[in-house]
Amino acid sequence: MKQLPRFLSGLVVLTLFAPSSWTQSRPLVSPEKVQEIYSRLLPEIEKIPIFDHHAHPGFPDDPDVDAMASPPGSAPLRERDSNPELVAAAKALFNYPYNDLAGEHAKWLVQKKAELKKQQGTAYFSNLLDKLNIEQGVANRAMMADYLDRKRFAWVFFADAFLWPFNNEKERARNGDEAVYIPLQEKMLRRWMEQENVKQLPAGFDEYLKFITQTLEDNQKKGGIAMKFEVAYFRSLRFGDPSSEQAEAIYKKQVAGGVPTEPEYRTFQDFVFRYLIREGGRLRLPVHIHTAVGIGDYFNISESNVMNLENVLRDPRYASTVFVLIHGGYPLEREAIWLASVKNVYMDSSLMEVVMYPAAFKDSLRQWLETFPDKITFGTDSFPYNDALGAEESYWLGVQTGRTGLAAALAEMVATGEVSEAKALAMAHAYLHDTAVSLYPGKVH
Ligand SMILES: [Zn+2]
Repeated sequence: MKQLPRFLSGLVVLTLFAPSSWTQSRPLVSPEKVQEIYSRLLPEIEKIPIFDHHAHPGFPDDPDVDAMASPPGSAPLRERDSNPELVAAAKALFNYPYNDLAGEHAKWLVQKKAELKKQQGTAYFSNLLDKLNIEQGVANRAMMADYLDRKRFAWVFFADAFLWPFNNEKERARNGDEAVYIPLQEKMLRRWMEQENVKQLPAGFDEYLKFITQTLEDNQKKGGIAMKFEVAYFRSLRFGDPSSEQAEAIYKKQVAGGVPTEPEYRTFQDFVFRYLIREGGRLRLPVHIHTAVGIGDYFNISESNVMNLENVLRDPRYASTVFVLIHGGYPLEREAIWLASVKNVYMDSSLMEVVMYPAAFKDSLRQWLETFPDKITFGTDSFPYNDALGAEESYWLGVQTGRTGLAAALAEMVATGEVSEAKALAMAHAYLHDTAVSLYPGKVH
């Protein structure tokens, strides 16, 4: 390099060293400063059209809204029908004229929704998305509903039923929740068999696997963009690695009758699960997995620990499968984000924004944004819980918490000098829309 004139080399030194001192981050900032940045960011964030990566849109009387039912259990504080935020939701979505949801007032709301449903038909849920500035959203449902506009809702189907083809009497008897869930899995498997014109379970294991593949391919042709597992509701998320011979021997024995022992069933399921995720890679069909606490009294939190999936997620055999950890491993989301260091693993924050209030959610989201901001996606987990907290209100809760929590997390990051405001808005676009959409090229926008 040629010798620079003395005054110029001084400039070079300045430009090399000055910016790093200007952008050095600091641990403390004044709340006023954060508030000021938040007020600038929030309106910009509200303008970003959302892609909702996980939701169960539907009316409360629609049995296809999920592949399973929720047993009455203890709902966390924010999901109870006593949540005063639901009044704000009703006002925002339906011009609700009252300030509480008591007695006659609640009836007004039920009636209003029924009227709109009748008037608007297939536009009912699309209009809801418009109100919340959601461009498109996932409908994770047993089957698609004809009242959901396919231009706005992309189907994510359930793949768990293939894990339950045998006599399930022992599984059902484990507790009251399984007594509800398992028959619904059996029903789902019968529906896939009907769809594929398979009258009874094939005698050969190879044909059973072919039936699985055929179902995945046909669901993809019907518009399915991903497969979803809610397997944590039934068994541990730690999957062993049995050989196909082991799985085949169990299949052949059980398909002929009898009740599998628990280790037999687990070994068979370990193999079929791995078969399904491998097919997900081959078919470019991302794999969504419920990783979080679950409803009901018997959901086993330690068995469903998201870290139990680590052996599968870090297995190079599945490098071409895209995994989305639905609900972000909550309440272990701070550990779980490190699983997104794997190039084909993504996080979804749905449920987190409904269980957590914005004040708590922004701290979790900030840690995600500071770790792998390019691997995190937004979802509402909208679901028709009850009359007061319907799919409508849970869309609203998820979106409000998502946008305000995001603005608050980013405002802190800008105020502490971690990122510029422009970078913060780019991160907001990625989280609310771009990253999720990039996982389904040509299928969603
Ligand atoms: Zn869900």
